[in-house]
Amino acid sequence: AKEAGKRTFRVFSPEMNKRVAEYMWLDTNLPRALEDNQLVLHYQPKVRLETGEVLGVEALVRWNSPERGLVSPLDFIPYAEESGMIGPLGRWVMQTAATQAQRWREQGHAIRVAINISARQLSDTAIVHDLTDALETAGLAPCLLDLELTESCLIEDEEMALGLITQFREMGAQVHLDDFGTGYSSLSQLARIPLDVIKLDRSFVRGINTNAKSQALVRSMVAVAQALNYGIVAEGVETAAEEEFIRKCGIEYVQGYFYAKPMTAEALETWLVERQK
Ligand code: C2E
Ligand code: CA
Ligand code: CA
Ligand code: CA
Repeated sequence: AKEAGKRTFRVFSPEMNKRVAEYMWLDTNLPRALEDNQLVLHYQPKVRLETGEVLGVEALVRWNSPERGLVSPLDFIPYAEESGMIGPLGRWVMQTAATQAQRWREQGHAIRVAINISARQLSDTAIVHDLTDALETAGLAPCLLDLELTESCLIEDEEMALGLITQFREMGAQVHLDDFGTGYSSLSQLARIPLDVIKLDRSFVRGINTNAKSQALVRSMVAVAQALNYGIVAEGVETAAEEEFIRKCGIEYVQGYFYAKPMTAEALETWLVERQK
């Protein structure tokens, strides 16, 4: 027994022990969070650069934990993906975002809503049914829904991804490629997969006004998007100087702290009303 104890000690570093403990904490607490309504969506506006018009919002999940306060999705989405919790969590996101978007419609705000979809969610073809169900329950027209997929969604099983993306677009939803430029999708793959919009990852936008290499990369990504007839959203715009360069590149839509941070549904309503004045 003593030997086994020793071996365990050697195998599990303190760092690994911490990760195991965190995994176990999430394993107990995340299902509870979903049941007890501790998850919330914040919404970040996407703006048309030319006119300042609000095109729509991206729904971003947070966890209001009684123990830890407001927890970032980066701290629980990876666990949810690994454990399979992303299924029920993703359905909650669909339903909540669709219901909220329909409420805004009824208040007279003509905005789209975007939700993030993990690669893992695309391994279950029931996702088409889940989305249809969420839209029907909310009474939201599918043409107001954007689905943000990362490049990892495309590389895991391209055939399957292609089939689902086709179905999403037949439903009437738009498909947006998230974090473009950070994954491993090839240009030929981009041409094979029907998309509506490409979102330039914020790592290219950061400090773009002073970085000649980023500028060259962004210009070429814009050229690719334009050649394929896809819209472009630049994410993570934080300064007027970044905006200036984005504008010069001919990018139509922007999202970032320079315009607005992600906010609660109520805060967004106030923000929208203020802008109309
Ligand atoms: P993402 O989809 O790339 O979302 C954009 C992230 O950038 C958000 O972080 C947003 O708050 C942040 N951001 C926006 N503008 C700026 C800016 O100007 N500067 C900086 N520094 N950051 C900015 P957040 O909310 O922490 O979300 C992180 C990631 O978690 C998301 O990255 C997405 O991959 C994932 N995520 C969030 N909500 C969901 C969800 O409902 N489902 C799934 N599957 N993933 C989600
Ligand atoms: Ca996103
Ligand atoms: Ca992104
Ligand atoms: Ca990201």
